[in-house]
Amino acid sequence: MAKMSAQDYMDRESKYGAHNYHPLPVVLQRGEGIYVWDTDGKKYFDFLAAYSAVNQGHCHPKIVNAMIDQAKKLTLTSRAFYNDVLGEFEEFVTKYFGYDKVLPMNTGAEADETAIKLTRKWAYLVKGVPENQAKIICCAQNFHGRTITIVSMSTDPDARKDFGPFTPGFVTIPYNDLSALEKELQDPNVAGFLLEPIQGEAGVFVPDEGYLKKAYDLCKKHNVLFIADEVQTGIARTGKMLACDHEGVRPDVLILGKAISGGVFPVSCVLCDDEIMMTIKPGEHGSTFGGNPIAGKVAMAALNVIKDEKLMENSEKMGKIFRAEMRAIKTDLIQLVRGKGLLNAVVINNQPGKTAWDVCIEMANQGVLAKPTHGNIIRFAPPLVINEKQMMEAIEKIKVAFKKFE
Ligand SMILES: *Cc1c(COP(=O)(O)O)cnc(C)c1O
Repeated sequence: MAKMSAQDYMDRESKYGAHNYHPLPVVLQRGEGIYVWDTDGKKYFDFLAAYSAVNQGHCHPKIVNAMIDQAKKLTLTSRAFYNDVLGEFEEFVTKYFGYDKVLPMNTGAEADETAIKLTRKWAYLVKGVPENQAKIICCAQNFHGRTITIVSMSTDPDARKDFGPFTPGFVTIPYNDLSALEKELQDPNVAGFLLEPIQGEAGVFVPDEGYLKKAYDLCKKHNVLFIADEVQTGIARTGKMLACDHEGVRPDVLILGKAISGGVFPVSCVLCDDEIMMTIKPGEHGSTFGGNPIAGKVAMAALNVIKDEKLMENSEKMGKIFRAEMRAIKTDLIQLVRGKGLLNAVVINNQPGKTAWDVCIEMANQGVLAKPTHGNIIRFAPPLVINEKQMMEAIEKIKVAFKKFE
């Protein structure tokens, strides 16, 4: 059989797959650490890291081996029976993050759905909200996934158009706006406030310093759950284990996904204390694959790598270098550089032929992969295992790409 070209691979996906994504024209075949290789053998720095799922680097041997070992023993039993890994994972992850209990799921969206269900149960059984009256406050420009209930919270027309009718029970306020929050909290039927501590998909929007802490305190004052979606910001991405740690906030409900498995297997979970978690009884929520033995072993390995390899410290240090170097680039193409740890964005002054998309294509030519979001924002989020020499090498390539537009 003749070797397939990159175009052949792309044409095949386009012919047989749904067109629900618009990928950069790069066909990847292999990954290791911070690097990926395309089908022609070209090597790239991966500065997307699967939307922060691959914080530990591609194909980390400790995580991959944990998966292989468990896959040879037992893959899935469903939750109709106990298995010998789930309890070990539950003990590990609750002690790791400091919560009474965990509820494991598979994807970020499912974990967000779980958090919403828990919040509503708590509202009715503990807070005493009248049935079907519970409200959850969410933020404009949020991203929590793609289910109907989750897009019911979205303010992005692409996420909603022609997908209605939507799930009721959500109130939207502007992000980073404490007075809007305080106003909505006056309603005694409000059960929870759901937010991303940094809005990732919106373009790495970092709120004002103190916002998380003050928002948390307001929630406490009104007996409302503070629900943090750390699917993208968690697991050392922003230089601390959780983005909420930057302000010493312990969410009442913590949602994790993506890097909790190092990108090796779909694993997500919700963590909270008994007062909230014990409101859900047998048969009221679940998932066939949630809490399966492979997921448990993979997640424990992935979380061990974060601490063993000091990825929080590295993320913090490399992030500072990255932002300083980006801010030093002399070009009117760059409007703004922002971020925390290794979750960063460069906002582009889009001009004809000089858009964020064009910059990403040129960076790919130079050997750095990143993806534009919302037309003019480029997110830069490499695996957290990147070292200083590699970072400087990647920055050189990014600079060369920007120079091409002078
Ligand atoms: C990616 C993401 C999700 C959804 O995760 P999926 O695994 O794609 O369902 C939810 N919340 C945030 C903040 C995310 O970044």
